[in-house]
This record gives sequence, structure tokens and C-alpha cells, in this order.
Amino acid sequence: MDRSTISEVLHYIDGERVPSLDGETLENIEPATGKSLGSIAAGKSSDVDRAVEAASRAAQSWAESPPEVRGYHLEKLAQGIENRIEDLAMAESIDNGKPVSVARSLDIPRAAANLRFFAGAARYQHEDAFRTRLPGDQLWNVSVTRPIGISGCISPWNLPLYLFTWKIAPALAAGCTVVGKPSEVTPVTADLLGRIASETGFPPGVLNIIQGSGPDAGSPIVEHPQIPAISFTGGTSTGAVIASQAAPSFKKTLLELGGKNPTLVFDDANFDSAVEGAFRAAFSNQGQICLCGSRILVHSSIADRFTERLVERTREMTIGDPLENNTMMGSLVSSSHLEKVEACLVAAKNDGGEILTGGKRIQPEGRCKDGFFLSPAVIRGLDSKSATNQDEIFGPVASIITFDDEEEAIQIANGVRYGLAASVWTENLDRAIRVSEKIEAGTVWVNCWMKRDLRTVFGGVKDSGLGREGGTDSLRFFQEPTNVCIRFESNSKE
Ligand code: NAD
Repeated sequence: MDRSTISEVLHYIDGERVPSLDGETLENIEPATGKSLGSIAAGKSSDVDRAVEAASRAAQSWAESPPEVRGYHLEKLAQGIENRIEDLAMAESIDNGKPVSVARSLDIPRAAANLRFFAGAARYQHEDAFRTRLPGDQLWNVSVTRPIGISGCISPWNLPLYLFTWKIAPALAAGCTVVGKPSEVTPVTADLLGRIASETGFPPGVLNIIQGSGPDAGSPIVEHPQIPAISFTGGTSTGAVIASQAAPSFKKTLLELGGKNPTLVFDDANFDSAVEGAFRAAFSNQGQICLCGSRILVHSSIADRFTERLVERTREMTIGDPLENNTMMGSLVSSSHLEKVEACLVAAKNDGGEILTGGKRIQPEGRCKDGFFLSPAVIRGLDSKSATNQDEIFGPVASIITFDDEEEAIQIANGVRYGLAASVWTENLDRAIRVSEKIEAGTVWVNCWMKRDLRTVFGGVKDSGLGREGGTDSLRFFQEPTNVCIRFESNSKE
């Protein structure tokens, strides 16, 4: 890949890549090297205004276009991504620090899949109708939906293009024009998406992308009077700020927030599968997935054997240059995030936790010697109420907690402010169903982790979010229904 294509990240407004009106930029750092990658246009409210004007001009014709036409454009965007999968995977890996193999097999294919899925969903949308018979009245109640309007879509850095497209695709399919903002930490693939949109003839103004920081570029999107809906994925504390900014004007908000997800391993689990599942759930993407299982709850009768095997498995990980094909763990996303995770490890030790492996800075040879690498850590011995087991760390840190029976396992699993996801490992079907129904989470996986069908609901309970995405839930968020009640005469008076 030609690095010059990612050295200058610009806004994408009205079909064109443009700098900020005031010319200001932020620096983009490559996490695996600690060196500058280039500049990012630093969006402000004036840039957001410009994007909203473009989105407003394009709104009517996009809203009124047949779903087949919207589907066609989304398909072309998906195809554009697939045609450049290798470049996009490299760009995502460079920008985020994740292994290129992960970007190639997960992030970029899923970005294309998101667009394709909602291209299809646009075509299959239907409206509800109810035939109502009242004494003396014959009615048809028809639920007519229209796009909610210009939609603000704000996404985080951990799965950059994957989550950005997961937000914009349903908005566009529903007939809304979009002002989106990727994370300033990983802006590159959204910039490339703008280029692809131009190349594939995406109608100008329908998709606009503002780059820049949360306070300077994100807040003006949330507070803009012409934007009635905000779909946000990110941290719980940011979600609280966004909810408070959106509330006075009664904006519709969809909030996908943080997690502190439990992996529950029962003594009747398939041992090898459970070790592998818990390992993947803990450390995939450097532990930087909202769905990662950072709390591993293990039945006391198998805890020692399980811990030993998990530690062995963790030590087998190849950590290093994310651009090497055999790298299993790349760098953390930024130096500040690395410091935050290290501080959590210090707190874990101070609270009496035993770090069985990892938790050390790594300095790979060569170009990555100044990168933000940390070896994956497994901790045991901490109370389930300790900070390590309560707060989202969002890094390669897994904590083992033991339990003695099902009830205690459920109590520990639910004993946090979050409720995003859980995975349950057992060969006992009755237990699998019993436990899954009692866990407070938007998603529970049984004997697997992070398997997704885009038709299913996705979201969090408690402090993990508000609302649901996935399938028709995603589409409905971006629509306003109106019930039209039509009275008619059932007996001919002719
Ligand atoms: P973050 O909250 O710091 O930032 C997310 C996005 O919000 C970024 O684009 C940022 O610029 C923007 N932002 C920040 N402040 C803003 C403001 N005041 N107004 C408008 N926009 C603002 O989150 P992050 O550090 O990028 O991502 C990590 C977090 O995201 C973790 O907590 C993780 O669990 C969560 N996450 C949740 C899901 C989910 O589906 N529930 C998925 C991925 C990540």
C-alpha cells in the first residue's frame, strides 16, 4: 500500500475530500511505531454546518429514491471495499495497531458485509397494516414510515471501519442522509471510504464524514438542531455526555457503550473448547473489543487446571509488528491507552492480585521498537468487587474468579454496572438455558463467542447502552412511523 494515501486525512463533504475551514489539523500517530503517520483535518462546528447543509440538500431525493436505488448504491460501496480489501486491511492495521490478519479476516470483510446486509434490508422493508373492526366503523390502520432525517453517526477506534459502516449503512438504507464521525484515534479507513464513495458514484451530500476530536467535531453533531438522531458507539462516560447534550431537544439516541463481560466456565464444559474460547474472548484485538470477556469465572473444581492451560495458551501468542502475517497480537492503540492499562495492572497488584503472566511492555526489534506493546496478562486472586473486576480496562487483561455453584456464578456475572455480553461454557443444555436467561446482558453466547448474524438484536443493558441495533432494529431507529387510520364504508351505498 502507498502510505501517501493515508498521510493526509480530510473531511468528506458533498462528495469531496476537503480540509477544515480554518485549516487546522491534528497529528495521527502510528501505534506500532510511535511515529507520525500524518495529519487529520480537525473538524469544528463550522465544518459540521457545512456537512449538514450538504446532507440537507441531498435529503429529499435520497429519501424519495426507491429502496432498490439506495440498495444499489450501498452494494457498490460494499464492492468498492471488497476491491480494495488488502489496502484497507493494511491501512486499518497501521492506523490501529491490530494485526493485519485480523483486519483482513474480520474488520474489512465485515465492513463490506454491513453495507451489503443493509442494501438487502432496504429492499425488504415493509410497513405494518391492521384491519380494525369497531361497532359502526371499518378501519385500516397503516403504519407509514419515513426517514428520520439527517443522522449523526459517531464511532470508536477499536473496530474502526467495521463499526462506522455498522452505523451509517442502516441510516442510509432507511433513506437518511448522514453526517458521520469516526474516532480521531483511527480516522484513516473512513477517509478511504470517502474516496471509495466518490469512485463508485455515491450521490454527493448523502454521506458526509467529519474528522476530528469528540469535543470539537462530535459535540457539534450531537447538538446540531437539524440532526434529529444520534447513533453512538463508544465509552459509557462519553455516552452519558451525549445523552445529556441530546436530551433537551428530545433527539433520538442509540447508545452502544462499554462492557465488563463475563466468561462462565462450568465444570461440565468441554475443557479444551472452553480454554480456547475464554482465551479468544479475552485477548482478541488486544482485548480491545467491547465484547471481550475480561472476567473469567471458573468453577473451583477445575480452576487450577484451567488457569494453568490458559496461561500456557496466553504465553504462546506471537506479539509484534502488526503488519507481519503471523502476528497474533499487535500494539495497543495509543500511548495514553497503554498507560491507562498499565495503571490498571498496578492497581490490580496493589489490591493483592497475582499476575500469572504478561502485563509487561514489549519492545519488538526493528521498526516497532517504540510502539505501544503490552504482553497479555492473566490475573487471579482478586475479589469480584475489586476495581479490576468492576471497571472496563479495554486491554489485554483477563482476571480469573472462581465460583462454587451456578447461583454464585450468576451473581458474580451480574454484579457489575455493565451488561453487554457474556459467554457460557457447559455441556449441560438445561444449565445453558437456565443461566443464559438469568444473565443481565444484551447478548449471551453458549459454547462460542462473538458469532454474529446481522439480523439479530445487538446492544447492552444497564450502563452498556440504550436501544438495540441489528436487522430491523437498526433500520427502525432511523425511521419515524406515523399511523394512518383510514375509515371506510364496508357496505356499498351505490
Ligand atoms: P470514546 O467514547 O472515547 O469515543 C467514541 C467516539 O465518540 C469517538 O469518535 C470520539 O471522538 C467521540 N466523542 C468523544 N467525546 C464526544 C462528545 N462529547 N460528543 C460527541 N462525540 C464524542 O470511545 P473510544 O475510546 O473511542 O472506544 C472505546 C469504548 O467504546 C469502550 O468503552 C468500548 O467498550 C466501547 N465500545 C462499545 C461497543 C458496543 O457496541 N457497545 C463497540 C465498540 C466499542
